[in-house]
Amino acid sequence: MAYKINLDECIGCGACADECPVGAIKEEDGKYVINADECIDCGACEGACPVGAPKAE
Ligand code: SF4
Ligand code: SF4
Repeated sequence: MAYKINLDECIGCGACADECPVGAIKEEDGKYVINADECIDCGACEGACPVGAPKAE
């Protein structure tokens, strides 16, 4: 299990990356992506995102 960001919804604000306690979210080509190997499923990114782009998988 890991969270995944829907890139069609992501507006590249970076709020999720600031809230991730393990630094699993990185900017890539103007969008943000989650490294599934680092994600601990805390859900902080989902709470921080203004458009609800991070989803639990
Ligand atoms: S669920 Fe938590 S650990 Fe996983 S990417 Fe989001 S903020 Fe980071
Ligand atoms: S908080 Fe949401 S919109 Fe902002 S970079 Fe993260 S996933 Fe994209």
